[in-house]
Amino acid sequence: MSETLLELVEVHRRFTVSAGLFRGSRTLHAVNGVSLQLRRGEVLGLVGESGCGKSTLGRMLLGLLAVSSGEIRLEGRPLAATSTRDLARRVQPIFQDPYSSLNPRKTVGAIVGLPLAVHGIEADAGAQRKRVQETMERVGLPARFFHSYPNQLSGGQRQRVAVARALVMRPEIIICDEPTSALDVSVQSQILNLLEDMRREFDLTYLLISHNLAVVEHIATRVAVMYLGRIVEEADTAALFRAPRHPYTRALLASVLTPEPGLGVPDTHLGVSYPNPVDPPPGCTFHPRCGEAMPVCRERAPTALADARGRVECHLYANGVK
Ligand code: SF4
Repeated sequence: MSETLLELVEVHRRFTVSAGLFRGSRTLHAVNGVSLQLRRGEVLGLVGESGCGKSTLGRMLLGLLAVSSGEIRLEGRPLAATSTRDLARRVQPIFQDPYSSLNPRKTVGAIVGLPLAVHGIEADAGAQRKRVQETMERVGLPARFFHSYPNQLSGGQRQRVAVARALVMRPEIIICDEPTSALDVSVQSQILNLLEDMRREFDLTYLLISHNLAVVEHIATRVAVMYLGRIVEEADTAALFRAPRHPYTRALLASVLTPEPGLGVPDTHLGVSYPNPVDPPPGCTFHPRCGEAMPVCRERAPTALADARGRVECHLYANGVK
């Protein structure tokens, strides 16, 4: 088995939110006891509906948010004890929206070179410029864009700038948070192919956060499914798409639109809408939406079953029903 690069051990992240005028505050468990490993060389897809906690988890891995409890380890050492510079050298982000994540007042050359300047890498201006130009070339950005501003570029070109900005630090891990969801369909595949090429060329490891299962199936080697702050299923991509085990994973896969004419909009059988994370249902938090819920599901949270196929958190498996 590949070496573990990043590891989350029983990680929780709680936020205090206002419950309304005169009603005090409530606690929102955005990430609720997640244990997960990111292995060297893999692309781990993290999927789930909006609000399930996947972006919060990504921000903790980047050191942008502290954990409330539990621990994140980078090659076995606590992330909290890693210096900002070291973390930036090893873990870089690519965010969703290339329209808002790039400073409109800076040129492409300045944007791509900023991490080098901030962290004092390649202190010599000439060496910095050379490294920026090489990285731009690697991601398919013509040298003439060095002096261009983001508003002079297309969405796909802007996302290439975001990829270059991440790669210029020569990181080992990239946290890709919905890297193609703000792009036209026609350029999404170009960016995905670029990410794949870069992974091979630079020996990178990706955590790919996405609600788009087609994107995840295309690029991920392993998938973790998140629901209301917990990982409910983990498996290799092929196994998960061929034979999903958790009822929520099955519902997510059933919701994928097919280009087949005449098939209409698929029915996910999810029934009621996504619960309020401030007031999660008791027992298995998926039970109000689960077509296979049993009496025990309303009373007790399921324990995880880990086996050769991966890991699943559902009473159907822990109780031997399936
Ligand atoms: Fe459905 Fe019960 Fe499994 Fe939860 S534990 S997913 S409610 S069968």
